[in-house]
Amino acid sequence: MSEDESMANSEPKTTDVPAPPEADPMSEGERRDQSPHGRLGRLRFKKKDMPGGLWLKCESCDQTIYRKELEEKGFVCPACDFHFTLPGKQRIERVIDPGTWEEKWAEIEALDRLDFKDTVPYAEKIRRTVEKTGQKEALIAGTGSIEGREVVMAVLDFRFMGGSMGEVVGEKISLAAELATRMKRPLVIFTSSGGARMHEGMLSLMQMAKTSAALANFNDAGGFSICVMTNPTTGGVTASFASVCDLTLAEPGALIGFAGPRVIATTIKQELPRGFQRAEFLMSKGQLDLIVDRRDMRSTLALLIDYARR
Ligand SMILES: [Zn+2]
Repeated sequence: MSEDESMANSEPKTTDVPAPPEADPMSEGERRDQSPHGRLGRLRFKKKDMPGGLWLKCESCDQTIYRKELEEKGFVCPACDFHFTLPGKQRIERVIDPGTWEEKWAEIEALDRLDFKDTVPYAEKIRRTVEKTGQKEALIAGTGSIEGREVVMAVLDFRFMGGSMGEVVGEKISLAAELATRMKRPLVIFTSSGGARMHEGMLSLMQMAKTSAALANFNDAGGFSICVMTNPTTGGVTASFASVCDLTLAEPGALIGFAGPRVIATTIKQELPRGFQRAEFLMSKGQLDLIVDRRDMRSTLALLIDYARR
């Protein structure tokens, strides 16, 4: 299973004009082209390039977009509505009512139990990622309100090692489900992930069972959960907590799958259908409940929470 941050990427292709550091694409490894339309199926790897510029190219429609305009539109392509991956903190700002967010368990950090060495030792990689992102792990969890509805929310941040799930992500999802049970609040999860974190070996795969069990307990206790899969949601995250909530939503064009399309195409030796593993494709196969435009996300979540209360 080839997972982790090399699985996928939705950061914009950039021009050579310098941009703020938060626009920095994934820092490690090669990244996969994942255009939802034209280029799907013939995936292309490329080396890390320079930070984002004033202008960038939409990877779905190739349109050149002014970064400012993209930001104003919530990182949705003005030409084709492609939803770019959002950093976790921005996601929280867009969904949670101002002044209500209270982060939990921010201090939990990854342990390098296997003393794992890649091209860069895992411990060093973590250290650098913490420095770059200003957060200790890929999952940000906490409590807050969505249009006045009190929730527990957990958001995977793709900038942190591809939103990969190691022990900490698994633990925080479980803690969030337990907190939601105690507080009798809905649990809202946003995912964007390359899958299990290979640097933690079997311990990361075990989080699939752990998070699924935590959500099952939450469900048994009468809890209501919503997962919003955003671009990209893949590997062990798709195969565990992202897929077992009461409602499974997705953003338009999001790549959602377990193994990547290239692995599947090579294995079954067949050309994959158009739009394979995109939100719209999954919706047409009954794998999703709803595709929600980012700009309607807050009001839609509020509405769904109201339905669940009735
Ligand atoms: Zn576009």
